[in-house]
Amino acid sequence: MLAVLIILAAIFLRTVSPCQEPLTYRIGKVDERFGLTRQEFAIAVDMAAAMWGKPLSHELFRENHNGTIEINLVYDYRQEATDNLKKLNFTINNTKDSYGELKSRWERLKSEYEQKNAALKVSFSAYNTRVDAFNAENKSWSWRGGAPESVYKRLTSEKNDLNSLRENLQMQQDELKKLTDTINSLVIVINEIATNYNLDLVNYQNTGNILGHEFCEGLYEYKNRKQSITIYQFDNDYRLVRVLAHEFGHALGLKHSEDQKAIMYRLIQSDIIELSADDITSLKARCNIH
Ligand SMILES: [Zn+2]
Repeated sequence: MLAVLIILAAIFLRTVSPCQEPLTYRIGKVDERFGLTRQEFAIAVDMAAAMWGKPLSHELFRENHNGTIEINLVYDYRQEATDNLKKLNFTINNTKDSYGELKSRWERLKSEYEQKNAALKVSFSAYNTRVDAFNAENKSWSWRGGAPESVYKRLTSEKNDLNSLRENLQMQQDELKKLTDTINSLVIVINEIATNYNLDLVNYQNTGNILGHEFCEGLYEYKNRKQSITIYQFDNDYRLVRVLAHEFGHALGLKHSEDQKAIMYRLIQSDIIELSADDITSLKARCNIH
């Protein structure tokens, strides 16, 4: 009985303070589409883990191939949207300013799309009319056993014109498809930022299923006695370390901070990879250090 109590007490104390013995972690899945090697990802994870131990001068996390917390890098539509826009030299920040700028670009692109789409429809219908006329004339001459030389020349040149016109229209259609992809990526990114600030969401075509998703670059989960950290998105290497450190903070049992400079602030807005004074205060409170 006493032994049971001691064990229970030990388990209780362990869950109360994660600061006595380091929590262990291991690298799980690393999606290669991020362009990071497993080793590069592991270095970022180590840096993030080490941040929390610094103010206490002893490590709070340790890598171990059997580690308790599995850390994954998962590529999803959010990263894809961000990458699409970055290739087009969009600047993306998780700020209200960035939201405003992206939204006005979205509005411009949307009206560009609408104009081009309407014009293309007109061109396609004109093309179809010419094709119909060409086919009708061709048919009528073949009924009569062939066209005279001059008509034949004219029909041949019309056929060539129609072929190059079709190629041109197809090119325009491909361009329009690219524009649609950009607009859809913009919608995803804008809505992520909007969710954070209770700003207006934008809606466009088939992105409805994405609306309402909560923005998260990373996620710490404790489910079925398994702990994991999953990173979905990051804008640069510093932010990767920062979002990892944020999720490690949750693994320590820390809640979100109201201090915008804190690693534990709900948004990743800065490239600084150090704990803020507020983070250190919360950590010490969590570890019962005064
Ligand atoms: Zn969080």
